[in-house]
Amino acid sequence: MTAFPLVDLAPLTTSRESDALLPVYKRAPMELVRGSGCVLFDADGRSYLDFVSGIAVNALGYDDPGVRAAMMKAMESGMLHVSNLYHTAPGARLARALVDRSFASMAFFCNSGAEANEGAFKFARRWARTLGGPEKHEIVALRGSFHGRLFASLAATDRPAYRAPFRPLAGGVTIAERSLDELDSLLDPETVAAVILEPVQGEGGVRVLDNALLQGIRELTRSRQIALIFDEIQCGLGRTGRLFAYERTGVTPDLLTLAKPLAGGLPMGAVLLGSQIAETIQAGDHATTFGGGPFVASIALHVVERLADPTLLGRVRAEGAWLGSQLDRMVGRGGAVRAARGVGYMWGIDVVEPAANVVARAREAGLLVCTAGDYTIRLLPPLIAGRPELERGLAILGDVLAS
Ligand code: PLP
Repeated sequence: MTAFPLVDLAPLTTSRESDALLPVYKRAPMELVRGSGCVLFDADGRSYLDFVSGIAVNALGYDDPGVRAAMMKAMESGMLHVSNLYHTAPGARLARALVDRSFASMAFFCNSGAEANEGAFKFARRWARTLGGPEKHEIVALRGSFHGRLFASLAATDRPAYRAPFRPLAGGVTIAERSLDELDSLLDPETVAAVILEPVQGEGGVRVLDNALLQGIRELTRSRQIALIFDEIQCGLGRTGRLFAYERTGVTPDLLTLAKPLAGGLPMGAVLLGSQIAETIQAGDHATTFGGGPFVASIALHVVERLADPTLLGRVRAEGAWLGSQLDRMVGRGGAVRAARGVGYMWGIDVVEPAANVVARAREAGLLVCTAGDYTIRLLPPLIAGRPELERGLAILGDVLAS
């Protein structure tokens, strides 16, 4: 055994212990020390019902026995990482598990959502170049989008405050209105390589895109040989009550990106590729040191199997519909809630006061929720939450909104 100390999990005692962290996050004034199921505990012993799930990451909640067992099992090989210079079984099996359940023929693994989208952009451009040469490289994203904070994903993200300090952003990326007329005139087959969209926009206010809009975009992109990328980083892997959000739209994308819940809280992203695009990708076109390493892929394999379980998905659909009906009733009562939008376990409610105030009061009352814009509260319960947890969360939220 090592003579060096293991990590000290005791709560922080002085501000000096945390003031070396770059202050890019507005953190809530509490320190979390433990999680179990749908509940988190802070250093003062207070408990919180968690309807944030680590921003749609902790689909299986906290301290899940299956995830714990998968981690112990994965450790038996002694290999956390070996690089992609060699074959390892877990990544290959994970790719097979995702491909067999989707439209895709191949998968690429990376380490975050933004990275997955950057990878998808590269794959789309690679494919488009084989069809139309270097001119066919433009990426089009939609109003209200959030695709990440790296340069190309930021250029595809419709948040002026996130973009302005970092100009010039990556070129060749345009944001279009969510309108078929505008897209029809913008999608020039000679210059556009791909359209990227979130079937349910998350950060942009929890907006479920109309199936008719998605079908129209699919027709435009297919007829003009433009790749359609679905960013399912937040809405994928069970959150809508289907393993993949595209399954409820009647539209099949050419590329699909995943991250957040994929590896049960460990960092992992993925790009799923349809066969036409996958066939144009060659060795050396893209790479990342950690992508799909044996440890993280082993955990993801367990998580994907769990999230693909029809019983879990059926419950998310049924309970999610009930949750939506209760939120609609809040809207109907008038007052604090203006509108509710969402699907499955992904809901946004527009409130009349700054959403950050509601988030703070909910936290005080023992419920964690987050925002999706200045006046929208976002609810992302763990997918293991049942009716009792949803009822409790709604009761707290109702009291908080009435106070
Ligand atoms: N795409 C969507 C839809 C997201 O919600 C997010 C993160 O919130 C990202 C991309 C970026 O993911 P990451 O923070 O892992 O880079």
